[in-house]
Amino acid sequence: MFAFRDAHRRVDVAFTDRHRDLGAGPSASLGPADTSLDLAGPADRCAEDLRLVADALARGHADRDDPSALSVRTPPPHLATMHQVHGATVAVVDQPALGRHEAPVADALVTSLPGVALLVRVADCVPVLLADATAGVVAAVHAGRPGLVAGVVPEAVRVMRARGATSIRAWVGPHVCGSCYEVPESMREEVAAAVRQAWAETSWGTPSVDIGAGVRAQLRQHDVHPVVDVQRCTLEDPDLYSYRRQGNDAGRLGGLVWIRP
Ligand SMILES: [Zn+2]
Repeated sequence: MFAFRDAHRRVDVAFTDRHRDLGAGPSASLGPADTSLDLAGPADRCAEDLRLVADALARGHADRDDPSALSVRTPPPHLATMHQVHGATVAVVDQPALGRHEAPVADALVTSLPGVALLVRVADCVPVLLADATAGVVAAVHAGRPGLVAGVVPEAVRVMRARGATSIRAWVGPHVCGSCYEVPESMREEVAAAVRQAWAETSWGTPSVDIGAGVRAQLRQHDVHPVVDVQRCTLEDPDLYSYRRQGNDAGRLGGLVWIRP
């Protein structure tokens, strides 16, 4: 279920993979056809998968700095979602129980509410999770190629600071890497004109864009640190979803961040 988990104080972060299996988790009783986890599939199925993820988050896990901190079970978080459109709009979540139909059109969510998990969905784009655990402000950001150019990550940082965040750290989730993300030369130039660190070459020597490098540069420029990069490429890793590898068959991975109650 989880490609990566981490925590900082009461802030809990996770990136999902494409499997429902948690080891000895709830998927044990499911048939082979029901083992994939897709956080943007058909509505009923998606709701079920979101519930599984919320339950898994509630179960907690050990914080490597303080093993006792997050091992206690809590009520499952409310999941806050958004309709992602490759823009730079940031939505603030200030009510705990927004339904799926009320999800804002945005590419970043920010909240200060404990017990609300912000969800970003991706299949090659970069999911970025941000937190100031002391101020109690977190964000989930969808940064694809257009979002990188539009500056959705700096915009999310700006909104967090306006809400009291001072010391922000980040987690950069699985995405298509610069060695795999081939684009036309003109597109590479266009992206590099906005964020020069995104200029890249594929492993076979053709033009590419490194969205992750571009996002990390934007985080540095806006004084966000430390930055944890999970360093998994969606196109190369069969345990992850990749739009480039699977086309319309690709499901969606999730990046989740929440302040545990
Ligand atoms: Zn790659």
